[in-house]
Amino acid sequence: MKKALSKKNLWDKTPQPFRAMLGKGLGISHPKWLLGKSFRKNCTFVDNTQYWPEEFLRAYQLNKLRKILKLAFEKSKFYRSIFDSAGFHPEDIKTLENINLLPTIEKQAVIENLSDMCTKDIRAIDVDYGSTGGTGGKPLSFYMNADRSPTEYGYLVASWERAGYKLGMPMAVLRGRTVSSDRNGLHHEYDPILRHHYYSNFHMSDENMARYLEHITTIGTCFLHVYPSSVAALARFILRNGTNTPKNIKGIIAESEIVYPEQRQMIEEVFGCRCFSCYGQSEKLILAAGCEQNNDYHVWPTYGYFELLDDDGNPITTPGQRGEIVGTGFINTVMPFIRYRTSDWATYVGSCCEACGRKHTIIRDIRGHRIQEVLITADGSEISWTALNMHDDTFIHVRQFQFVQETPGQAVLRIVPTDGFEKDDADRIQRNLGRKLDSQLAFTIELVEAIPLSARGKAIYVDQRIQQEKRNSLKSEGDI
Ligand SMILES: [Zn+2]
Repeated sequence: MKKALSKKNLWDKTPQPFRAMLGKGLGISHPKWLLGKSFRKNCTFVDNTQYWPEEFLRAYQLNKLRKILKLAFEKSKFYRSIFDSAGFHPEDIKTLENINLLPTIEKQAVIENLSDMCTKDIRAIDVDYGSTGGTGGKPLSFYMNADRSPTEYGYLVASWERAGYKLGMPMAVLRGRTVSSDRNGLHHEYDPILRHHYYSNFHMSDENMARYLEHITTIGTCFLHVYPSSVAALARFILRNGTNTPKNIKGIIAESEIVYPEQRQMIEEVFGCRCFSCYGQSEKLILAAGCEQNNDYHVWPTYGYFELLDDDGNPITTPGQRGEIVGTGFINTVMPFIRYRTSDWATYVGSCCEACGRKHTIIRDIRGHRIQEVLITADGSEISWTALNMHDDTFIHVRQFQFVQETPGQAVLRIVPTDGFEKDDADRIQRNLGRKLDSQLAFTIELVEAIPLSARGKAIYVDQRIQQEKRNSLKSEGDI
């Protein structure tokens, strides 16, 4: 079988010294050409379809759904069994809504049926292995098409363009990549194909952050591509030290973690530019992005089939209601994810955006696994981490922080202090957070040297160790 590696994959897999060496000869070519024909084709497709009228989009989705359901039925043991149990045949799908004839599937089912879910031999050369970070429990392994990158990257670039990014513009990237230090001790690597400057968000001391910012001033008009927690750390560093913000940063693209509204506001104020974000998963089910006019997430209709379901599995159509994001991906045909519950929750806003005119489903306030995102009071009720996120100077002398909770009603706030951290800072944190918590939860402050990031370099704000069963029992006691 032909090896279907895209140029992007090829470059991802090429060792850094070779990439840098080869890249010197390619510096003058535009990435649009270097990234290959299928990338360019997908860019054109995305440009042509994103403003399609609703009936075109629905027809496209129905066609894609039929194809993926047929493939799953014919080639995947797992889905054949699920479909048979549900008395479902792919030809039963006459409208998009018919998808509810099938059950949803959860992460545990994927873990237990990994190879049976696949539609082809996983040893094939055009199959890639992938996994998610597994911050909230077991990591999730899966398989996907090796040639997916040009398609996926096309959607990302089209999303970022809404924030003013142009392909070929340099990007300063702080996204969990292991970046070795150069001969001057700076954690920096350069990819001449994508024009990405990588820095290490595992090395975020004040000294390193000062060096990153200084280096960024030398790379020309650029975008930051970051985890929200990384750029928030940079912003707090700037505020704390009165450091000048690089003037060549045109915009910030913050992805892969939740962007809290207070965080976004602080980042935008410090950097003086827009903080734009996309939402997606490693499993490639659903991709959503803000638009030119606002930060509400517009779900890309041609990337995957999106559903927002309430606790009873019914679709949410009322603006303001929250539900779980359930996705059926169109891109991964090696291991289809059909009606997969993402454990991410969002608020439904509407079926189109009046500001930009796109007929895309609009959602906001996306939150991850609820168990990671909340603190538990003594009576079992939940306090959203968002509610505790401070926009003022509460954390000014704090490099990193994390709640650790083992007992309802109590928590430890771990803090990695900066040099200027004094007792006043601890008192202020106790006072300001205490005011928000309103005696529902007591916390003690513990100063630590470091807080480990997840395996992918993401910040974990709440290390929630109270099991769901225990929380449920507290709630039912309360009900009686
Ligand atoms: Zn819009």
